[in-house]
Amino acid sequence: MAGRIYFDHAATAPIDPRVASAMEMSRREVFGNPSSLHEDGRKARAAVERARGQVAALINCEPGEIVFTASGTESDNLALTGVAEACGVSGIHIITSVIEHPAILETCNYLAHRRAAVTKLPVGSDGIVDPAELQRALRPETKLVSIMAANNVVGTIQLLPEIARIAHEHGALFHTDAVQAAGKIPLNTQKLPVDLLSLSAHKLHGPKGVGALFIRKGTNIGPLIHGGGQEQGLRSATENVAGIVGLGCAAELARTEMAAENVRLVGMRDRLISEVTRNVPGAYLIGHPTRRLPGHVCLGLAGLEGEAIKLLLALDEAGVAVSSGSACSAHHAGEPSQLLIAMGFDPVRARGSLRITLGRFNTEQEMERFLEILPRAVASLRPMTTRPAVAKL
Ligand code: PLP
Repeated sequence: MAGRIYFDHAATAPIDPRVASAMEMSRREVFGNPSSLHEDGRKARAAVERARGQVAALINCEPGEIVFTASGTESDNLALTGVAEACGVSGIHIITSVIEHPAILETCNYLAHRRAAVTKLPVGSDGIVDPAELQRALRPETKLVSIMAANNVVGTIQLLPEIARIAHEHGALFHTDAVQAAGKIPLNTQKLPVDLLSLSAHKLHGPKGVGALFIRKGTNIGPLIHGGGQEQGLRSATENVAGIVGLGCAAELARTEMAAENVRLVGMRDRLISEVTRNVPGAYLIGHPTRRLPGHVCLGLAGLEGEAIKLLLALDEAGVAVSSGSACSAHHAGEPSQLLIAMGFDPVRARGSLRITLGRFNTEQEMERFLEILPRAVASLRPMTTRPAVAKL
């Protein structure tokens, strides 16, 4: 019997066996506390520093510019709150976008309660922030701009170089949530004028519960977690050595395999988009057609918006794991997606989308099977709907 098909890599990616074995080795042999001065401690310190170098190489920065955290969410919190605290919070202005992950939006809401002013920039129907909107939103007191590198639901890639340049010309710091983008598209901090960049291991075939924040040398930022002063005093706590080793290994694999892997994933992605939009009545692509992550497809199904969860469960029954949007918002199932509303969808159409995200271990054979399974699953739901299958926003 054919195995299950996992097409939900934007939610989390299965751990690469090479990462798992590096972590097992570390758990077995590197048990010391990296702050201890004896040999066992020094061994653990060396493992952490090796991983720091591997993560730094992924985004072309200095190892000393990487701070390890416990998640992408924590990296985002540290970037925003850490910079805001260093600027005094009250009265500062922060600019972000309406389509950011809750890790950014909720942190902005928290800072707004502490009297920071927050502007959330709109996006176009393709999910892209217009740099001219950023230019218009800047104020003398704007200290920080935070725009994600690529969106977790629709997969669109933002115009980062332009956005970062505008922020810098104004004298504001620029942060990007690159949790979905890191390890999937090239990110070069020597070329991109970014001050802070968040990433998370479990999105790049690494372990859950470990992330990193790039902080450009000289950036004024304070800690979120206070204690023994680890991670340059910005993230106190005894380091999660095995998790950090896993992130380092995952970063190195992503860096060395990215070019070839992207060609493969873009080929599968574009084939999926063209076959599904041609063969499944009412199916249309959501987001930008080309400025999208290599393995990321977000589909609308005209007339089936309210049935997105049923479709997801039908696919699950047929052995395929996909998502009806962001895993983080699964508990809001059935409600219109605020992200699709922000992209100009009406509330009915904003109720459903199908997110199909491919990764390292997916094969052409799995794609073939999916292309047979999806039309059948959609057809099984069609008679229950009355809306016409017209594919437009
Ligand atoms: N930012 C984005 C864009 C994400 O997609 C996610 C997770 O889905 C996060 C942040 C949070 O990362 P983590 O799950 O490591 O906390």
